[in-house]
Amino acid sequence: MIPGARLVMLGRQGAGKGTQCTRLSRHFVVPHISTGDMLRAAVKEGTEFGRKAQEYMSAGELLPDDIIIGIVEERLVKDDTRERGYILDGFPRTEEQAETLATITGEQPLDMVVDLDVPTDVVLGRLASRRVCVDCGANYSVQTPPKHNWTCDHCGGEVIQREDDTEEAIQRRLDLYEEETAPLVDWYRKRDLLMVVDGDGDADEVTARLVRAIESART
Ligand code: AMP
Repeated sequence: MIPGARLVMLGRQGAGKGTQCTRLSRHFVVPHISTGDMLRAAVKEGTEFGRKAQEYMSAGELLPDDIIIGIVEERLVKDDTRERGYILDGFPRTEEQAETLATITGEQPLDMVVDLDVPTDVVLGRLASRRVCVDCGANYSVQTPPKHNWTCDHCGGEVIQREDDTEEAIQRRLDLYEEETAPLVDWYRKRDLLMVVDGDGDADEVTARLVRAIESART
């Protein structure tokens, strides 16, 4: 049986966290917990909470810490994550979130935190051409569209540009990343949990790099 893993993936928007976390979750057989995907699901359901979340998201702003912490905490107490672990994608994004995560995971601490490093000029290009499936979240781009008329190859859902992939929201999200989330790289380095992996280049190559780095740190 493959051992589980408790991982956090940091990285700028457009670094490829979603794609890589999906692949790592299959490799290590652990749930991929993406706060962005959870929020987009709430928006799609059209709940009161979803409507509120959408306001923050389409402006590229972060949701308040207490709200997002509540959602993640509820997910991390479920049996699958307690038994096998998880890959957290999009959380923590602020120091307060990181501190709370350390408290929540007290008895089962993180194995490691990966910083998927891709330069800003590269992510800007990727974000502008990114397209996603509204149903399953699969990633495409203008250069690599689905086979048939913007219909998802995996689930048949509609493939669109994310509402927060506009020029203005992209800039705001990247600014917030530098202000709020980039300091977590040092925060985790000081706690001896950080591993930096080069996220530039072909997706398969990056996956191989990540698996190698994570497995070598675990042995
Ligand atoms: P993502 O798909 O990870 O880029 O997240 C999309 C949006 O969801 C972000 O721009 C925020 O508005 C919101 N969001 C996701 N995760 C968090 C978080 N940990 N803290 C605050 N807001 C978040």
